[in-house]
Amino acid sequence: MSSVKSTNVTTAQLRILALEAAAKAYSPYSQVKVGAAVVTEDGAIFTGCNIENASYGATVCAERVAIWQAVSQGHKKIEQLYVYSRDGWPPCGLCRQVMVEFGNPTMEITFGNQQGGEQMMELAELIPQAFSSEHLTNKS
Ligand code: ZN
Repeated sequence: MSSVKSTNVTTAQLRILALEAAAKAYSPYSQVKVGAAVVTEDGAIFTGCNIENASYGATVCAERVAIWQAVSQGHKKIEQLYVYSRDGWPPCGLCRQVMVEFGNPTMEITFGNQQGGEQMMELAELIPQAFSSEHLTNKS
């Protein structure tokens, strides 16, 4: 799987990787191709594409595939994520919750569209008042 070491990754580089990942999407039902690229705290990059399923419910988004690629390779801190789709869709609620598990509130999420338009938000903006592991450790 694609894992490129880089210590200073630009949004433009992530966009290219996310576009490449989107080309690998398995989306026979929606025809929508989404690609994501994540940067870990040590500068490793992992990518993912959306993978659909005939059951619909077993479909997985590109963002989660990219994060799980990183985690499964031993990288548990995500600092940056770029997600590409034709219309520049923002991450869904499930993906935002997974980002909370492996990212800091300042993690940067950029969503870009086909025309080159981009929007960048920090994780705390994307999912305010997030439920996290902190809630599980305060059991008084
Ligand atoms: Zn999602």
